[in-house]
Amino acid sequence: MIYDYCVVGGGIVGLATAMKLLERQPGASLMLLEKEPTLGKHQTGHNSGVIHSGIYYTPGSLKAELCRKGAQVTKDFCTEHAIPFEVCGKLLVATDHIEVERMNTLYERAILNNIDVERLDATELKRREPNIRGLGALFVAATGIVDYKLVCDALGRVVQSAGGSINMGVEVSSIQEGSEEVVVNAGDRSWAARRLIACAGLQSDRIARSAGLDIDFRIVPFRGEYYQLPLDKNHIVNSLIYPIPDPELPFLGIHLTRMIGGRVTVGPNAVLGFAREGYPKFSVSARDVRDYLSFPGFWKVMLRNRKSGTAEMKNSRLKQGYLKQCQKYCPDLRLEDLGPYEAGIRAQAVMRDGNLVNDFLFVETDRMLHVCNAPSPAATSAIPIGEMIAEKCISKMSLHEQRRRA
Ligand SMILES: Cc1cc2nc3c(=O)[nH]c(=O)nc-3n(C[C@H](O)[C@H](O)[C@H](O)COP(=O)(O)OP(=O)(O)OC[C@H]3O[C@@H](n4cnc5c(N)ncnc54)[C@H](O)[C@@H]3O)c2cc1C
Repeated sequence: MIYDYCVVGGGIVGLATAMKLLERQPGASLMLLEKEPTLGKHQTGHNSGVIHSGIYYTPGSLKAELCRKGAQVTKDFCTEHAIPFEVCGKLLVATDHIEVERMNTLYERAILNNIDVERLDATELKRREPNIRGLGALFVAATGIVDYKLVCDALGRVVQSAGGSINMGVEVSSIQEGSEEVVVNAGDRSWAARRLIACAGLQSDRIARSAGLDIDFRIVPFRGEYYQLPLDKNHIVNSLIYPIPDPELPFLGIHLTRMIGGRVTVGPNAVLGFAREGYPKFSVSARDVRDYLSFPGFWKVMLRNRKSGTAEMKNSRLKQGYLKQCQKYCPDLRLEDLGPYEAGIRAQAVMRDGNLVNDFLFVETDRMLHVCNAPSPAATSAIPIGEMIAEKCISKMSLHEQRRRA
C-alpha cells in the first residue's frame, strides 16, 4: 500500500500535523510512526506546560504569529476535549535597573504583538504576589498551563478517529525519496508514502541525514533542569513568575511555574547535555557527544557563550547557585525547598557558522518536509504549525497531480 502521508514522530508537532492533514483532506491515508511506546515522551512530555502568549518574539515573525494563534487554539482544543487547563497569568519581574529597561522594551514589543499586558509597580506587585520582590513587573493575563502529554493523547485519538494509523515502537532508520514515493525503513519493515513529514525533535538532524539531505546544522542537546517545591509551598505564588530575559541568551531564565496538578516547579536552566534522551543528571551517550564535538558550529557556540555556559554549568552542579537565581525574585526560598524533578532536554539546532537557530526551521524537498528546529513555544504553537505544514503539503500534492495530468 502507498500511503498519502507518512509522519515520523509522535510528539506534539507530528501529531498536530497529522490531525491537520486529515482535517484538510478527509479520507487521505496516513501513517504516523513513533519510536517510543507512548506519545509525547520527549520534549513534549518534559516541558514547563505553559501556554505562552507570545510576548517575547519579534513582531511579524513566524514565532510571534504562530504563538498568538496557538495560545487560543490550544485552549479551544482543551475545552473541546475536556483536557484540564488554567489561565493563571504570568508575571515578568524586574529586579534591577537593567531589567527595568529590558522590561520597558518588552512592554513595547507586547503592544506591537497585540498582547494585553499590564505594567505593575513594586507596591502592586507585592500586593498581588506577597512572596515576590521586584522593582516592577509586567502581567500577561492570557498565559495558561496545561499537561501537554494529555494534549498529545487527545490529538492521537483525533488522528485515529479520522482514519489515520499510529504505529508506536517503530524507530525509523532510513528514508529514500524517489520520484513517485518516499520509502521509510525501520529495521526490516518499510512503508511507502507519497509525502513524508518528519517531526523528530531531538533526532531531526539524524532523520534528515538518513534521508540524504545535505544539512548545515546539528542538534545540540541543552538540558533544562528543574526542582519541585514541597507541598506546603504550593501556594507560594498565584501566577507564573518569570525573570526578565537577557536578550543575548536564547532561553527564558528559570521561573516559578504552577503545574496543572497543583505543584510548583522551579526551572528550567539551560546547560549543555551529554545525551539527547538521557534524563538523569549524569547521562552520557558517546554517540551524541561525538556528533557535536565533531561539528565546527558547536565549538563556535561554546566560544561565544563561554561565560554564560560556565555559569550555567556551575549552577547546575551547585544547588546554592541555582537557588540564588530564584531568590532574586523569591527571597524566601530555601535550599531544602528544592526537591528533585525530572529534567527536560531541548533540541537546539546549531548552524555550521555557530549561530543558534531561534526560529522554526523547515527543510523541504519534492516529497519531504523536515521540521528541523521546533523550539519553545512549539508546544503552544503546534496546532497552527501543523496547519501551516498541512497547507504546504497539500499545495505540493496538487502541483504533483497537475504535473502528472499534463
Ligand atoms: C525544558 C523545556 C521546557 C519547555 N517549555 C515549554 C513551554 O512551557 N511551553 C511551550 O510551548 N513549549 C515549551 N517547550 C518547547 C516544546 O516542548 C517543544 O518545542 C515541543 O514539544 C517540540 O515538539 P516536537 O513534536 O517537535 O518534539 P518531541 O516532543 O521531541 O517529539 C519528537 C518525537 O519524534 C520521535 N522520534 C525521533 N526519532 C524518531 C525515529 N527515528 N523514528 C520514530 N520516531 C522518532 C521521538 O520519540 C519523539 O516522540 C519546552 C521544551 C523544553 C525541553
